[in-house]
Amino acid sequence: MRKIGILTSGGDAPGMNPCIRAVVRYAMSRGLEVIGIKRGYKGLIDGDAEIMNMRTVSGIIYRGGTILKTARSKYFTEEGGQRKAVQNIKKFGIEALIVVGGDGSFRGARILDEKWDVPTIGVPATIDNDIWGTDFTIGFLTAVNTALDAIDKIRDTAVSHDRVFFVEVMGRTSGFIALWSGIAGGAEEILIPEVPVDIDGICERLERGRKRGKVSSIIIVAEGGKAGSSYEIASKVREKTGYDDRVVVLGHLQRGGSPCAWDRILGTMLGKAAVDVAIDGGRGVAVGIINGKVKTSSLKDAYEKKKKIDFDLYHLNEIMAT
Ligand code: ADP
Repeated sequence: MRKIGILTSGGDAPGMNPCIRAVVRYAMSRGLEVIGIKRGYKGLIDGDAEIMNMRTVSGIIYRGGTILKTARSKYFTEEGGQRKAVQNIKKFGIEALIVVGGDGSFRGARILDEKWDVPTIGVPATIDNDIWGTDFTIGFLTAVNTALDAIDKIRDTAVSHDRVFFVEVMGRTSGFIALWSGIAGGAEEILIPEVPVDIDGICERLERGRKRGKVSSIIIVAEGGKAGSSYEIASKVREKTGYDDRVVVLGHLQRGGSPCAWDRILGTMLGKAAVDVAIDGGRGVAVGIINGKVKTSSLKDAYEKKKKIDFDLYHLNEIMAT
């Protein structure tokens, strides 16, 4: 093994830069050359790449986003796009490709590995934490901290105005960001896609809270739930209770910012682990961390199996919020 490639793909996540830095510096320490591909699979198709060195990754450990840029490429999902990508992989002399991204990126990586015989290794990086085979994805805890910072600020105004606030957080189809930021922010309710929304129950608990003197509440709503958007849920609750409410959608705020300590450490650990897998001839796998130890699982399991949220934590909040 002489040369590896790295790309970041799909939604950006804070901690991708520390991961790129770790891949480059560790691979170089093992005598490998590293090619950085720009804008994910789009860059592979366009042949947009550069040789990385110690200097191209200096001063990036604290920066959000990804210096390699990221993109979504519909063309790559087609045979023609994949053929062009593989031609460029051969042209660059890339012997193994490290793909840093979420489940969509892992699907693409598996196709490269299985169908086109390009040894590929995935590194889970998405704020949603919805990748199986790892306790944490790169970017998740930074996004939780960002959401928490907003919740704390919203709490000030909620208390001052005796208001109910609905705060919508990201998470695609998983409630990880909602659950963690909601627990940490002392939310009165946490609505996650994994649990059906009970509007009557929410209204009853709000009423009960009012009788006990609780005049403001924060309800965290994970996007993508079957009960609809935070606006729809808020209007149903308003109809029944008549309480003064506001809706805040945190949106893309949650994607940016300097990666927290853990995302820098995780990015560094998993970047190194991916290079080790490549050197050992591993392929078609994703690296991850389980109980503090680096593990690998198949790319297919990583994107296909559903990682479960911790329902003990979810139910604990029902007690905390009383
Ligand atoms: P994420 O990796 O954050 O989940 P996406 O789902 O947007 O982001 O996937 C990123 C890219 O991966 C897509 O733009 C596409 O190029 C590639 N990709 C996703 N799904 C597939 C698939 N089924 N086959 C081939 N490529 C895919």
